[in-house]
Amino acid sequence: MISTSELDIAAKYIKEGKLVAFPTETVYGLGANALNPLAVAKIFELKERPSFDPLIVHIASIDDLYLLTENTDGNVIRLAEKFWPGPLTIVLPKSKLVPDIVTSGLNTVGIRMPDNDIALKLIRAANCPIAAPSANKFGQLSPVSAEHVKKQLSNVDYVLDGGNTSVGIESTIVSIEGNVCTLLRPGVITIADIENALPDTFIYSSEKPEKLIAPGLLKSHYSPVKPLYILDKQVSHFPESSGFIVHEKKDFIPKESRIVYTSQTFNHLEIAANLFSALHAMEDDEHIKQIFIEPVPEVGLGIAIMDRIKKAAYKYQQNN
Ligand code: AMP
Ligand code: MG
Repeated sequence: MISTSELDIAAKYIKEGKLVAFPTETVYGLGANALNPLAVAKIFELKERPSFDPLIVHIASIDDLYLLTENTDGNVIRLAEKFWPGPLTIVLPKSKLVPDIVTSGLNTVGIRMPDNDIALKLIRAANCPIAAPSANKFGQLSPVSAEHVKKQLSNVDYVLDGGNTSVGIESTIVSIEGNVCTLLRPGVITIADIENALPDTFIYSSEKPEKLIAPGLLKSHYSPVKPLYILDKQVSHFPESSGFIVHEKKDFIPKESRIVYTSQTFNHLEIAANLFSALHAMEDDEHIKQIFIEPVPEVGLGIAIMDRIKKAAYKYQQNN
């Protein structure tokens, strides 16, 4: 648990334009006052994040939407009431209050209310919306514990330690324009969930999200610093010092290998929650030279899990 004094310090730092890493239900965020462009600039600097990659703004009440956007029509409120607080980011036309640096010059802003008590208390105590990308160096593994944050961002001003995050992968991102809702990034809230919430709306999900106007949806992302390969079940010989990340008991993996289970029963929620921890564990293990990860079928939540796995493995594939 976080003490009141820790929260007070963190809120004071945000008010002073400093950076605070904090837990959300998805991954740890690197937060700054979203309305202070200089504070937000420090996020890009510390993360070494390219300036074309916009940040998500975190709020603690649906009322804060009216500060950040002029579009609060029926569909937006329907989604917010159904899924907030929760792992859904809604991209909307930005109000004048939102600095350009937050949105990388786009005229839209990504907004979400996280489902984490510490995050909500921090936003309320700081008394401002908090811009926060994941608290990792650009392109590397997302942090799902305070230790993961300190590993990559040792000189962040303050870290609120809320233990391991529960959802474990980043929020679903959708944009809404009139009667069209577009999926920009898959997450634990699936297309089917959105369709149920907006039955009269056209839901568009591209097979090739990198073609959409959504900077940051890159082919390579969330990568460990050592080679990661998607496990091919036909292959039975593996190089020495291989680590295996699997989602249920397996008998074809060499007995002496390091194995990390995300789940014992191929449970998708468990796989998502433990995916980044498993990758961090392999990254930190000096005996492991390369990592093999089991794929999951791309249906339902499996779409979001495979999105992260493919991006993490992308730069280590041959012929790309
Ligand atoms: P991160 O918080 O590190 O997961 O990154 C946030 C991601 O949200 C960015 O990389 C973008 O892909 C997406 N995003 C944020 N704001 C917008 C926006 N206005 N339009 C489209 N995508 C956005
Ligand atoms: Mg990120």
